[in-house]
Amino acid sequence: MALIVQKFGGSSVADAESIKRVAKRIVDTRRAGNDVVVAVSAMGDTTDELLDLAADVTPIPAPRELDMLLTAGERISMALLAMTIKGMGVEALSFTGSQAGMITTAEHGAAKIVDVTPKRVREALDQGAIAIVAGFQGFNRGTGDITTLGRGGSDTTAVALAAALDADVCEIYTDVDGIFTTDPRIVPLARKIDAITSEEMLELAASGAKVLHLRAVEYARRHGVVLHVRSSFSSDEGTIVYDPAKGHPKGDQMEEPIITGVAAEKNEAKVTVGGVPDVPGKAAQIFECVARTNANIDMIVQNISAADTNRTDISFTVPLAEGRKVVEALEADREELGFTSLLYDDQIAKVAVVGAGMRTSSGVSAQLFRALFEAGINIEMISTSEIRISVVTHADAMEKAVRALHTAFGLDADSEATVYGGTGR
Ligand code: ADP
Ligand code: ASP
Ligand code: MG
Repeated sequence: MALIVQKFGGSSVADAESIKRVAKRIVDTRRAGNDVVVAVSAMGDTTDELLDLAADVTPIPAPRELDMLLTAGERISMALLAMTIKGMGVEALSFTGSQAGMITTAEHGAAKIVDVTPKRVREALDQGAIAIVAGFQGFNRGTGDITTLGRGGSDTTAVALAAALDADVCEIYTDVDGIFTTDPRIVPLARKIDAITSEEMLELAASGAKVLHLRAVEYARRHGVVLHVRSSFSSDEGTIVYDPAKGHPKGDQMEEPIITGVAAEKNEAKVTVGGVPDVPGKAAQIFECVARTNANIDMIVQNISAADTNRTDISFTVPLAEGRKVVEALEADREELGFTSLLYDDQIAKVAVVGAGMRTSSGVSAQLFRALFEAGINIEMISTSEIRISVVTHADAMEKAVRALHTAFGLDADSEATVYGGTGR
């Protein structure tokens, strides 16, 4: 008998029919003799609709109340799923994040899991029941308040439960057949990947491939949880995310491709601090000012300074939601920092190619720049890691860039991928 954690995303439980379909799948797994714990997201676009509703009543909703509101979404789906399963004659009990022991930090909207004490989940399993846990939510012991883990956080709930319960596998059910070489909504000829290393998946998730929550991938890697991403609409095998130190799940592989995937996202903004005196300590001062806003910086580029003025420009990207406050903080310290101009651009996109094969191959950047040039796309910034090259382009060029790179690196499949549901919102 195995212990299986199954996570169902919003598009997999979008309406009553979908909930019944998912319930049947869960019951089949249980009847096959496994213990089953389920993490479930809010139905369809419920979270976005609740956010819209909050924005309709006040411009800046109180973070504590926003978490109270959003966690209601998962409460609806967990209860409906549990009652559907019980209606099918199988025991099931639903639990909120706090009942399931998801203990988090206090940051509303971006809480991190610090402990998992799934006593009630274990008791439910011991009684032979299926435990259904609300995804994306937790509880902070200090404040006594309900928290959320950030958008897409139900994946992390599932992985944290799998680690705490020492599950055999954590299955992430979604609206596509697994992890593809890029988002099949952008490139229909995206190719399904059978197995991907956790380090490549980390880079893809950090670069905008929302098929898995970044923190879920980190958590799984740290706790040795095996992830299987697959469709809730078909019974096909999906994609296994594996630890390269433990070897490919299907044994020795033929030569792996150099590039594994392409990812992109639009939710960053670019800040350019112009005319910065090129003296030691200036960068420290500028980034200390940014750090005080708690904004998370992604790419940084510093130009060489102009010989006549000995001044330079520094550009960096930050999450869109934090862009304005960063600009305000820099503006407030303008005199002390000594720069001459400040530019803000929220019409940017970040496009990244990822592949462990980059470590041992040369010419990947040349190929990338040529492909973007031939597609007529201008590059505004570049950053690299050992296995990733990211560029910033104009927001309007994002999809074209993804398509061009997918083709240039030979990733196009022969037939189109299936997108089973969801609005892609
Ligand atoms: P869920 O509601 O199940 O959590 P998400 O919408 O969060 O689903 O994630 C699934 C979506 O991720 C897919 O429908 C697809 O559009 C998008 N996606 C982005 N990059 C990829 C990728 N590399 N492989 C598969 N899907 C991807
Ligand atoms: N319902 C939450 C969201 O839409 C969490 C999740 O689906 O993972 O972001
Ligand atoms: Mg998701």
